[in-house]
Amino acid sequence: MPILSRNSAAGRPALLDAAALPGAAGREPSQVQGARARLGRTAGRGRLSLFETCANPLCASGWLHLLRSRSAPVFEGGWSCSAACTRQRVESAVRRELDGRGNALENHRHRIPLGLLMLEQGWITAGQLRQALEGQRAAGAGRLGHWLVRRQGVSEQLVTRALGLQWSCPVLPLEFHDAEALTPLLPRLFVDAFGALPLRVAAGSLLYLGFEDRLDPMVALAAERMTGLRVESGLVKESLFRPALARMLNAGFPAVELIEAASEPALVDVLARSIERARPSASCLVRVHDCLWLRMWRRPQRGPLPERDSVQDLICSIGAHGE
Ligand SMILES: [Zn+2]
Repeated sequence: MPILSRNSAAGRPALLDAAALPGAAGREPSQVQGARARLGRTAGRGRLSLFETCANPLCASGWLHLLRSRSAPVFEGGWSCSAACTRQRVESAVRRELDGRGNALENHRHRIPLGLLMLEQGWITAGQLRQALEGQRAAGAGRLGHWLVRRQGVSEQLVTRALGLQWSCPVLPLEFHDAEALTPLLPRLFVDAFGALPLRVAAGSLLYLGFEDRLDPMVALAAERMTGLRVESGLVKESLFRPALARMLNAGFPAVELIEAASEPALVDVLARSIERARPSASCLVRVHDCLWLRMWRRPQRGPLPERDSVQDLICSIGAHGE
């Protein structure tokens, strides 16, 4: 009985005693009630946690879960009574996230090419566009905006404005950027790989997320679901974005574990085991492109920003074998 022995090992009252009580299969005899009271005292927790219902809809423990003295781990707002229940809940969360793949967020909407858009606005001439395109083609690298700014003397401000039109999003300012304070909002890997830069939190409820030349709605949605903040995405001028990104990548981030799982069941195992081990007071799973991001809070979050040392991230790649 691994669940039971683990509970004992963790310094919690052994459930074997309670489960072995006479009458444990049916009614609630006084011995069981007594055992429940004893468990409550030993565990030193509030009475409420003892009577909470397991959040696993498939929970098979019946009233026995009342004897399992746990108030953690909490996964996606619900407490689960055993490692088996945690695993089942994680399994359905993983399924939910993987089933969401290929949704509208990832379909690339048709966008007017940047050069054409700038030409239409009268911000560049046909000659400037042609030369920038030729330069880009000859070099086989670099974005068009870059060539327009560096070789054709077009202002960076205009290129960023055009990108904002192209993506129908605002151009965001980058003032008083406190990189160190913002690192608990997104794992370093996502800031680095997807170029998503948390800019600031306004009024305790709105997170401004900056990108250099293209938005990433998937990262924005993941940040929204994970932080509970409304996310406003926008573009930031390259000359401001680059140094701010470098500063943030050098700042301290919450602890993270990167995992590559061989199969979906293996992935579920790893996640469920981590939750059982950390016994977080809250945890949540979201998908970001081909990664699943599990965040665990060691203690309840107090402000709009998580505390860096209270969160622990797990990023699992699901790759081609994840199906
Ligand atoms: Zn359960």
